[in-house]
Amino acid sequence: MWFRRDLRLADNPALAAALAEGTVTPLFVLDPLFLRRAGAPRLAFMYRCLRELDAALGGALVVRTGDPVTVVPAVAREVGAAAVFAAGDFAPYGMARDRGVADALRDAGATLRHVGSPYAVDPGTVRKDNGTQYLVFTPFSKVWLAHGWSAPIEAPRASAMRLRGAPDVPTERIPDDPEVAATLPPAGERGAWARWETFAADAIDRYRDERNRPDLDGCSRMSPYLRFGVVHPRQLLAELRPDRHHDHYRSELCWREFYADVLFHQPHTAWRNLQSKMDALPLDTDERARARFDVWCEGRTGFPIVDAGMRELRATGWMHNRVRMIVASFLVKDLHLPWQWGARHFMRHLVDGDIASNNHGWQWTAGTGTDAAPYFRVFNPEMQAEKFDPDGAYRRAWVPELDDALGYPAPMVDHATERAEALARYKRVTGK
Ligand code: FAD
Repeated sequence: MWFRRDLRLADNPALAAALAEGTVTPLFVLDPLFLRRAGAPRLAFMYRCLRELDAALGGALVVRTGDPVTVVPAVAREVGAAAVFAAGDFAPYGMARDRGVADALRDAGATLRHVGSPYAVDPGTVRKDNGTQYLVFTPFSKVWLAHGWSAPIEAPRASAMRLRGAPDVPTERIPDDPEVAATLPPAGERGAWARWETFAADAIDRYRDERNRPDLDGCSRMSPYLRFGVVHPRQLLAELRPDRHHDHYRSELCWREFYADVLFHQPHTAWRNLQSKMDALPLDTDERARARFDVWCEGRTGFPIVDAGMRELRATGWMHNRVRMIVASFLVKDLHLPWQWGARHFMRHLVDGDIASNNHGWQWTAGTGTDAAPYFRVFNPEMQAEKFDPDGAYRRAWVPELDDALGYPAPMVDHATERAEALARYKRVTGK
């Protein structure tokens, strides 16, 4: 069983399928490409989740560093495995990697068998009547809901797990956490479900009203767990009732599936505009733009809601959704920088960093992606702050200098001027 984005025992169909066939070697491969790309917070969280998974497997997890194309067949050969089970991966790198591993396993006389995926409905499943993909969320979500999903399955009982792993099969130690300044959420299935219980006991019944309020504990913070498959969305969907707040939560989970679907059909949109006409939008990329980008990254723009978000990101590896939209809009429409710069910074710092949700979240805000938010809708950071952080508690929590205005920088730009500049640039592309 090759674990990837499914670091859990409960409701793990690939693991269940592997156990049904016989003795199982649980394997995790530390892919150097991932180790290079993921920032320290995401790596640290993943290592902690791996330690929890290893403990749940009675210490049997086999960990190896290297290119999965060589490591997976090598371990299969060592243990005489005829099949390697894994959940499907639908992101561009994962699909290419799996094709390479499947070919290499075939040469070793074994097969790669995909069972399940990190989604309730696999990307590529929901289609229009004519077989093409949806690029608009609402019709996608209706078909997604009508398609439905199976009920979660229980974790295998310890006595039913016939494992042949560490220490019989040589393993590396799970690396020590890299140094992280951020305070990370508790790792592993127990940590995930403890957080869910807190959310489900109270906030979920106000979710629709409070999910946009960064000053309240109004959202689930399940994203890091969903990112690494410590919980499966199917498990969360099974917890929901027909109720307007629960319905709203279900639809947020659907956004995750929508973006995975968009990226599956159009892998080039990971780093390029979905709407190619927006390629002509003039952007700033010179020295001065770089300096402005650094100010944004450091949370010193002089716009308290933007700075609060950027500091929350560094301090916790997470940022509230409303604030992600505000800081992203600021980067693109007040500073006129490429959304890709912001997306890369997010991927370095977010524990939940996910190529589909992140890069399409950025494109949504930048007005270059799926068509819900046209470019000419520009967020006003001050009005957003007043509406969604009415007492300023969120801003003060992350920007303590606000309390004695001393030492807090003046706004780095004039929002009204930059809004007009953004609209003028947009007009040059569209004529509108
Ligand atoms: P809740 O409000 O409790 O929602 C529950 C779950 O629904 C989330 O955990 C998530 O899986 C899903 N969800 C909610 N909103 C969205 C959304 N807009 N798009 C996709 N899925 C959603 N989410 C990530 O998981 N990884 C990312 O790298 C990421 N980058 C983003 C970048 C930008 C610029 C923006 C605007 C959004 C991004 N999001 C990303 C989406 C969203 O901000 C987070 O999923 C959410 O803030 C996570 O907090 P939560 O679990 O408390 O969310």
